[in-house]
Amino acid sequence: MDSVDGIRDRLREFAAARDWEQYHTPKNLAMALSGEAGELVAELQWLDGAPGPVEGPLKERLADEAADVLLYLIRLADVAGIDLVKAANAKIDRNETRFPPAT
Ligand SMILES: [Mg+2]
Repeated sequence: MDSVDGIRDRLREFAAARDWEQYHTPKNLAMALSGEAGELVAELQWLDGAPGPVEGPLKERLADEAADVLLYLIRLADVAGIDLVKAANAKIDRNETRFPPAT
């Protein structure tokens, strides 16, 4: 599944199959998301100004934590009834207005 909707549907099925929907409240999911964001930050915390692309084991750990963040975000948006792609596009639209390109 290579779309947000596809991942959302997989997460729905995953939670339903384990009877975990009862735990997937917006509050719980937001807290889990925050924890995973912390794990992502921790991977980079003490690196000295590492440039953009990363390789090797660090890249694998970053990918793992980034996936955790994304999965909780998608699940949170689903439970809260938020169209994540629509909300993201609306946000970019607002930012384009707030921060016009340099001339
Ligand atoms: Mg994690």
